[in-house]
Amino acid sequence: MERSKIALVTGASRGIGKATAVRLAEDGFDVWLNYRSDHAAAKAVEAGILALGRRCRLLPFDVADAGACRRVLAPLLEEQRPYALINNAGFARDGLLAMMPEKDWRSVMDVHLQGFFNVTAAVLPKMLRGREGRIINMASTSGETGVGGQVNYSAAKAGLIGATRSLAVEIARRNILVNAVAPGFIDTEMLTNLPLDRIEPTIPMRRIGRPEEVASVVSFLCSPDAGYITGQVISVNGGIFTG
Ligand code: NAP
Repeated sequence: MERSKIALVTGASRGIGKATAVRLAEDGFDVWLNYRSDHAAAKAVEAGILALGRRCRLLPFDVADAGACRRVLAPLLEEQRPYALINNAGFARDGLLAMMPEKDWRSVMDVHLQGFFNVTAAVLPKMLRGREGRIINMASTSGETGVGGQVNYSAAKAGLIGATRSLAVEIARRNILVNAVAPGFIDTEMLTNLPLDRIEPTIPMRRIGRPEEVASVVSFLCSPDAGYITGQVISVNGGIFTG
C-alpha cells in the first residue's frame, strides 16, 4: 500500500494551524504538527487526527530558533519528506512604531521571516529531490495594505509575500508550488483584546472569519486541483481588502 503524503504544519496547536492540520488529515495527509509551548493543546489536536485514521507526529520547537528546528527536523528528513509545508506559526506584537521596543520589532521578524527560512530551508532540499511539493505561507491582510499599530507585523507579512513570489519562481520547474494565504480577521486567540463590536461593521461581510474558512483554502492549494497555481496570494478576508 502506498504511504500517505505528509503535511508539516507549523503553529498547529490552536487557531488557523490547528484547523489546517485537521483539514489536511481529513484530506488524507499524515501530519507533522509543530507548536512551541502548549503541549496539552497539541496532544488534543493529535488525538483528533489519529481519530481520523491518520498518523501524527508532534514536533515541539520554536520556528525562530534555527538550531532547534534543525535538531528536530534533520533526523525525520533522513527517512521521510513532507509533500506539503504550511508556514503558519506566528504572533503579533502591536504598538505604534514611535514607541515600539526593539524586542517587539525583532521577535515579529524572527517568528515570521526567520521562521519561514529555518523551516523551509530545512525541508526544501528533500522536496527538490522528490520533484514535487506544496509550500503555503500564512500571510495577512496586514501584509497587503497599511494597518496602523502593526508596522512590524505588516513588514514581516509583506516580506513573506515577497519570499513566496520569489521562491515560487525559483522552484517552479521542480513541480513545487509556493503560494500565500492572506487572512483578514479570523476568530482565534490572536484577536483576544480587539474590539470586535467595532471591527465587524467595517468588514463588508459584517463578520469575522472562521479558522476552517482559511484551512479550506490551504486544502485546495495542497490538492491536485491547484496544480497550475504558484506565486499567488489568496486573500480570505470577507472583503475587507480587495486590492
Ligand atoms: P494563534 O491562535 O495565536 O495560534 C498561533 C500558533 O502558533 C500556536 O499554535 C502557537 O503555539 C504557535 N506559535 C507561536 N509562535 C511560535 C513559534 N515561535 N514556533 C512555533 N510555533 C509557534 O494564532 P492564529 O490566529 O491561528 O495565527 C496563525 C497564523 O495566521 C499566524 O501566522 C498569524 O500571523 C496569521 N494570521 C492570523 C489572523 C487572525 O485574525 N487570527 C489574521 C491574519 C493572519 P504555542 O501556543 O504552542 O506557542
